[in-house]
Amino acid sequence: MANKTLKGKIGVTTENIFPVIKQFLYSDHEIFLRELVANAVDASQKMKALASSGDFKGELGELKVEVSLDEGKKVLKIKDYGIGMTEEEVDKYINQIAFSSAGEFLEKYKDQIGSIIGHFGLGFYSAFMVAKKVTIDTLSWKEGAKAVKWSCDGSPEYSLTEGKKTDRGTEITLYLDDDSAEYAQKGKISQLLGKYCKFMPVPVIFGKKTEWKDGKSVETDEDNVINDIVPIWTKAPSELKDEDYLKFYHELYPMEEDPMFWIHLNVDYPFTLTGVLYFPKIKERMAIDKNKIQLYCNQMFVTEHVDNIVPDFLTLLHGVIDSPDIPLNVSRSYLQSDANVKKISTYITKKVADRLEDIFKTEREQYEQKWDNIKLFIEYGMLSDEKFCERALKFALLKNTDSKFFSLEDYRKAIEPAQTDKDGNVVYLYATNVEEQYSFIEAAKNQGYDTLLMDCELDSHFVNLLESKLEKTRFARVDSDSVDKLIVKQEEVKPEMSEDDKKSLDELFKAVLPQGNEYTVEARNLGENAQAVLITQSEFMRRYREMSAMGGGMNFYSSIPESYNIIVNMQNPLVQKIWEGRDGEDKTLLHQVVDLALLSNGMLKGKALADFVQRSEQMLKQD
Ligand code: ADP
Repeated sequence: MANKTLKGKIGVTTENIFPVIKQFLYSDHEIFLRELVANAVDASQKMKALASSGDFKGELGELKVEVSLDEGKKVLKIKDYGIGMTEEEVDKYINQIAFSSAGEFLEKYKDQIGSIIGHFGLGFYSAFMVAKKVTIDTLSWKEGAKAVKWSCDGSPEYSLTEGKKTDRGTEITLYLDDDSAEYAQKGKISQLLGKYCKFMPVPVIFGKKTEWKDGKSVETDEDNVINDIVPIWTKAPSELKDEDYLKFYHELYPMEEDPMFWIHLNVDYPFTLTGVLYFPKIKERMAIDKNKIQLYCNQMFVTEHVDNIVPDFLTLLHGVIDSPDIPLNVSRSYLQSDANVKKISTYITKKVADRLEDIFKTEREQYEQKWDNIKLFIEYGMLSDEKFCERALKFALLKNTDSKFFSLEDYRKAIEPAQTDKDGNVVYLYATNVEEQYSFIEAAKNQGYDTLLMDCELDSHFVNLLESKLEKTRFARVDSDSVDKLIVKQEEVKPEMSEDDKKSLDELFKAVLPQGNEYTVEARNLGENAQAVLITQSEFMRRYREMSAMGGGMNFYSSIPESYNIIVNMQNPLVQKIWEGRDGEDKTLLHQVVDLALLSNGMLKGKALADFVQRSEQMLKQD
C-alpha cells in the first residue's frame, strides 16, 4: 500500500445507510461510547493474553484506555494500547465484517429495532450514530507492522492510507455531528462512562482528577480513572467482608438504606454467571422501584431491565448479574424461551431460596427481626413462582397478634390441639388490624385460641395460597363469626323459633341498623354470658372484595354493597328483655344493644355516635 490511498465501498446495499440507522436507533445513541470503549478493552486484554502466552515478548507497557474530549472542536477520542490492527485486519474487520454485519443486522431487525435489548453486535459501526466523520489510527503489535489510517465521512465510502502512529494500539477519533452536540460536553461523557464503563476490566481514564482549591475546582496531575477493574462480584466470597458488600451496595445505590442481606452468585457450569444480589428493605409493594438489578456481560453494563431474565418477584432485589451466556441482541420473547436464560432463572431462584433457608436455620433471631421487611418479597415469590413456593413453605414465617413468630410447621403443632374443628380441619384465625378487631381477638384468646396478624397487602391472596397448600386447613378472620362458630367443635343447638318469630326478629333489628348495607339477622344460642349482639362479615365475601380491590379481575365483588351478619344471642338476658318487649313503644334498649355491637366494630360514627352517647347518659341518670 506504499503511499497510495486505497478507496473502496463498504459492503452495504443501501446507498447511504447512516441516516437510516441514526433514525432507527435514536433512543439508544449513547451506547456508542460503551461499544468503542469495550473494543478498546478487548484489544488490551488480547494483548495481555499474548504476553502471558509468550507470543509477545516485547514491552507490554501500561494497558489502559484513554478517553479525551475537545469540547470546542467537538472531537472525541478513544485510545488504547492493545493489539492494534494491520492493514489486512482493518480491511477484514472494519470494512467487511463490521460494516456488512451492521448492514445485515439492520436488514434483519428493521421491523423490531425497538424490541432489541442492548443493540449489541453493532459495535464499531455505532460511532456513526453520533459522528459525521470517524478515523481509525492503528499500529498492530505484530513485528514489522505498519501504521494504518482509516477514515470515513458517513457515506459508504472509506479511505485506507498509511498512518503516522508510532505507539502500539488504536486511536478512534469521532468528529461529532452537530445534532449530537450533547456528547461534546465533559459532563455528558463522564455520566456515560459512569453508566456503561464503571466496572470494565481495564483502567479507563477520562482527563485528570480535580480538587477544590481556593473555592474553585482545579485539575491535578493524577489520571481520572473512572472504573473499578475488579468489582466485588469477580472476587471470591472468602476474600470479602460485610463492609465490602455494603460499600459496593452504596456505590450502586447512593440513596438507599442498608440492605438486609445478600447473595454472592458464582457458577461456571453449565453456564457462566457471577453477581451479587441484595435484599432491600421492602415495606410496600407500590413503593418499590423494580428495575434495580444491573445486567453486565463480562463487566460491561448492558441493561437495568432484567424482567425477562429473572422471575418477576426477583426483580424486587437489587444488585448485579454478570453473564456472557445471556443472548443480547434478540427479542424479548426469544429471550424468555432461551434454554440458557431458563437455566439461569432457575439457578437464581434456587440460590435465593437456599440463602433464605440458611438464614432461617442459622440466624433465626435476625431472620425474625427482618421478617416484616422481607415478608412481601417472600409472599410475592410464593404466589408467583411454584418452585420458590415449595421451598419457601419451609422458611416462611407466621406472626401472631402478640408479635411472636412461628414457622408453618411449628404453628400448626401449636394450634392443632385447640383449633381443630369437628371435621378435623385445623382453623387458623387471623386479624388484619389489632385495634379494630380487638374484642374478637380477646374473645378468641379467652377460648384458648391464637390469632395471626395478616396485615400485609398480599395477605388475602396469601391466605388463599396457604389454604390450598396446607392439608385440612381453613383460615378464618377472627371477626368473621362468633368465637364458638369460628371453630365448630360440635353441632349447635339452635333456638327454637317459628318462621313468624324469625321474621319479626329480622324486622326488629333491621329497623335500627344503619342504612346502605345488607344484613342477615340470625338468632343463636351463645350462652348467657356472651355478648348480646355480634356483627360479623362473611370470610368469603370479604376476602374476595379485598382481592378484587387490589386488582385481579374480580371486580364484580367490589361493586356489591357491604353485607354483614347480625348474630343475636337469644340466651343473653338483655336480648330476652328486648324480645319480650318487642311489641312495646320504647326501643331504647334495642338501640343501645345494637349501637354497642356497632361500636365494637368501629362502625358507629357521626350522628349515630352522638345519639348513643346522649342515650347512654340518659340511661345512667335513670338508674
Ligand atoms: P465486535 O467487537 O462485536 O466484534 P466491532 O464492529 O466492534 O464488532 O469490531 C469489529 C472488529 O474490529 C473487532 O472484532 C476487532 O477485531 C476489531 N477492532 C475494533 N476495535 C478495535 C480496537 N480498538 N483495537 C483492535 N481491534 C479492534
